[in-house]
Amino acid sequence: MKKTCFISIDVERDNFGNKDTFKGVEELDNILDIFKKHKVKATLFVTGYVMELYPDFVKKWAKDYEIGCHNYFHIPLDEIDLLEREKQLKKFVGLYQTIFKQLPKGFRAPRNIIDNKQFEILERYNFAYDSSVIPRHIALHRYKGYKGRAPAIPYQPSIRNYRKKGKKEKMNLIEIPNTPLLGGIPFAATWIRRLGAGFFGSLLSLNKPKFLSLTMHSWDGIKFKGRSSKNSGKVFLGQLDELLGLLKKMDYEFKTGEQIYEKISEIK
Ligand SMILES: [Zn+2]
Repeated sequence: MKKTCFISIDVERDNFGNKDTFKGVEELDNILDIFKKHKVKATLFVTGYVMELYPDFVKKWAKDYEIGCHNYFHIPLDEIDLLEREKQLKKFVGLYQTIFKQLPKGFRAPRNIIDNKQFEILERYNFAYDSSVIPRHIALHRYKGYKGRAPAIPYQPSIRNYRKKGKKEKMNLIEIPNTPLLGGIPFAATWIRRLGAGFFGSLLSLNKPKFLSLTMHSWDGIKFKGRSSKNSGKVFLGQLDELLGLLKKMDYEFKTGEQIYEKISEIK
């Protein structure tokens, strides 16, 4: 089968400034227009709060993209107890059902921080897949979302340990992990902004992995200042355009999480 690339955007409040602002959400078309140019299918993991504030935007995006769950509020799961986690998920699912008359299929944890207990909740709410796992440690700095090694291609996790491929006791849902490249650097917009599209292009042409997951945030396309702000806004949009062109040349097929779930047997 063709090489697969899963592209996703976490659609959430801005990562800059002290106030709850949503510039990245309001101007998401700056990223989506580039997707359109390259005919990219993608999944948008939207927080419930964004769905509540911008229902018409979310409905419009759903015409071209899969809408997944980024929990209700963008709070790392290790900062809230299980009751609060379930309350948030339930609220998200309720709102999603009101808007789309169906259940969400995909989940991504805020800041990629997840554990077995959250997987139990996701199974109870019939999620088809999760996409939070970071399979390798980022050599350059300690990352809270990293909890040990995990497979780097989609897998059905073991019930006891979500970071292991299940043998006998498997979860029903699948995990679509982040892609670790050289030294565990995730194939993510923050790193593309730092190191450039060309750097990732040459890495990929050396490795040619059969599965890739490329992640970004709604606010990567907005120019901001401060921490991790390098090349945000227009520069990033140019890098994304270049990178998508390279991926197409390398024969990657763009698929949503839902499509990967349906075709898991072909990737395994
Ligand atoms: Zn997020």
